[in-house]
Amino acid sequence: MAKNKKQYKIRFFEAKCNKCKNKFDMPLLSDFSSYGEFIVRNKTGSKFAYFETLTNSFWDEVSNIIDEIIRNKKNSRITIAKRQRVISKCLDKINDEQFAIDKPICPKCKSKDINYGIGHPKGVKRIPYVSFNEFDKMNKLEKVELVERILKNKLKTAPN
Ligand SMILES: [Zn+2]
Repeated sequence: MAKNKKQYKIRFFEAKCNKCKNKFDMPLLSDFSSYGEFIVRNKTGSKFAYFETLTNSFWDEVSNIIDEIIRNKKNSRITIAKRQRVISKCLDKINDEQFAIDKPICPKCKSKDINYGIGHPKGVKRIPYVSFNEFDKMNKLEKVELVERILKNKLKTAPN
């Protein structure tokens, strides 16, 4: 796997879990950042990465595949949030960990009931860019299969 050393500077703020009262640092995109910029997080909510869809066609490509799959299934729909998650799960892993666009969670107790926003600034830190080289290398069929697999898991594990 190619090492991607590119890093993004982002401001961190203090977040607090309403359930276990744990305090932790969380990155937030600034108000000046554009539509098409995302923070992705690992499963435990403790690591973050950045990705943007402005200078590449990755997002549209995966999104079109989702549309194709859905068109072939009767009565299926997908929410915007779910679509974002599915697309982000096609990104490369970082050190064997899958990052995704997910709701922030407490890294300690995994609760989604957390307070964040413009709280105490915790300084600017660097987070890695997440790439999609593995996806790029696939042929069309492999891409469709991957998206189908993620879509299926999603529907099973996170019914709406
Ligand atoms: Zn907690």
